[in-house]
Amino acid sequence: MTPSSISAVGIDLGTTFSVVAKIDDRGIPVTLVNAEGDHLTPSVVLFDGEEVVVGKEALKALATEADKVAECSKRDVGCRVFHKVIGGKQYPPDVIEAFILNKLRRDAGRVIGPFTKVVITVPAYFDEVRRKATQDAGYMAGFEVLDIINEPTAAAVAFGYQEGFLNAGGSTQKPQHLLVYDLGGGTFDVTVMEIRGTEFIALATDGDVRLGGYDWDQRLVDIAAEAFFRQHRIDPRNDPVAAGKLWHECEDAKRTLSARNKATVTFDYRGLSARSEIGREQFEEATRDLLDRTRFTTVQTLSAAGLDWPDLDHVLLVGGSTRMPMVRAMLRQLSGKEPNAAVAADEAVAMGAALRAELILAEAEGKPAVFQIKNVNSHSLGVVGTDPQTRRRRNGILIPRNTRIPVTARRTFRTQKDDQRSILVPIVEGESPSADDCQPIGKCSVRHLPTELPAGSPVDVLFHYEPTGRLKVRVIVPGTDRQVTTEIHRENSLSKEHLDGWRQFISGQEPTEYR
Ligand code: AMP
Repeated sequence: MTPSSISAVGIDLGTTFSVVAKIDDRGIPVTLVNAEGDHLTPSVVLFDGEEVVVGKEALKALATEADKVAECSKRDVGCRVFHKVIGGKQYPPDVIEAFILNKLRRDAGRVIGPFTKVVITVPAYFDEVRRKATQDAGYMAGFEVLDIINEPTAAAVAFGYQEGFLNAGGSTQKPQHLLVYDLGGGTFDVTVMEIRGTEFIALATDGDVRLGGYDWDQRLVDIAAEAFFRQHRIDPRNDPVAAGKLWHECEDAKRTLSARNKATVTFDYRGLSARSEIGREQFEEATRDLLDRTRFTTVQTLSAAGLDWPDLDHVLLVGGSTRMPMVRAMLRQLSGKEPNAAVAADEAVAMGAALRAELILAEAEGKPAVFQIKNVNSHSLGVVGTDPQTRRRRNGILIPRNTRIPVTARRTFRTQKDDQRSILVPIVEGESPSADDCQPIGKCSVRHLPTELPAGSPVDVLFHYEPTGRLKVRVIVPGTDRQVTTEIHRENSLSKEHLDGWRQFISGQEPTEYR
């Protein structure tokens, strides 16, 4: 690609690690080192009184001051507050993410100079609420978020770039079908994509925002903690500091088990010590159900894309957890192909995001698009109604999952009484017919309807999914040209004032407070 004049930066904001990439002067995506000289920054935040430390040092503090450390905040994104109280405070998870992004911004700025425009990636399976929260985190960190793109799509773009699909001529010879299996630290995503010419088209996507390497770690924690308990009748999992330290040890052992047939976890607590030797087979047995969950989702997604295993040209491995041999073995057995880890598992997503940022900036400068991304929505969008017979809250699906976006759906509501001036429409995402089992996005309030509408007058509400997976709502009252206002009152979302306050606080802090 011909580089644009402004730095094109992409950020993979991971559950356990984050990575920043940019397009260099030759038009090649490269990852940037942080202030510690590493390409991967642990997505961990230490709140130590007034001081906020992000990255490696915060990760180390998990072993000694776990009660002050926020880890895996991405798992809670979309919730009102982070699950752990830190220093007596309850932080919104997007604020914790903003601290991480701010460290990434400062560190990258040391290498490439100040910049604000970025593309941030999210799991394809993130719902609307989580996408909005991620965008807010970027804003609070002082960024202008150009786009939010899906991690597997970013990985496929990086793969396409590497395979030369985006180079001179810019198109593939024949359509390629890719299955992107992305198992990171805290999330699992599987996406089936087609690369047709210069178009990257998502055909189907599914996943689990609460399944990742961290769950594999916890199984090892259980094995080691139980061994400790058998010997000393004390369960170290009951003490957050000990549990943090044990997790560290076990995460390390898990990595060893990817390279060797056995690993040892030695753990000291309250002057007592226990040593457990764990074999790869035992580890695989203890985590089989986790792997099976990913297998099930993978098979379902391929079928939702309308493909069979022989139709696939590549199986792409993304995310640090795909280094576990059990993952590769399962995919080899399912697909009959050798899974492809040619794009660096940890860096592919950030590189794809940088390519996307480059595309947006180049287009803004009037240069032609080198490639295009076409996406699907990962969750069905519905409005809540009441079943007249059972009086239960039902989910009336308007846009089924895996619909190509952007897409607009229209639902006509009718006023219930004469001169009704407003309507409140609860919006949910999810597949269940019961609204209570779905994720509430918020309520869309339709106000300032024209006066003197008779009862039963139609009001059309248009739900529009943008290419980013974000939702916009518009209202039309047939037969009138009155301007009607609509707003989505979002669940668990910070107000504009709060966002601005945090933006000032987080991005305005002295750089020395971030390491
Ligand atoms: P990501 O979010 O893609 O950076 O993935 C991070 C996850 O990958 C963490 O759960 C790590 O423990 C895991 N991981 C990284 N390297 C390995 C390895 N060699 N074997 C097993 N898991 C790994």
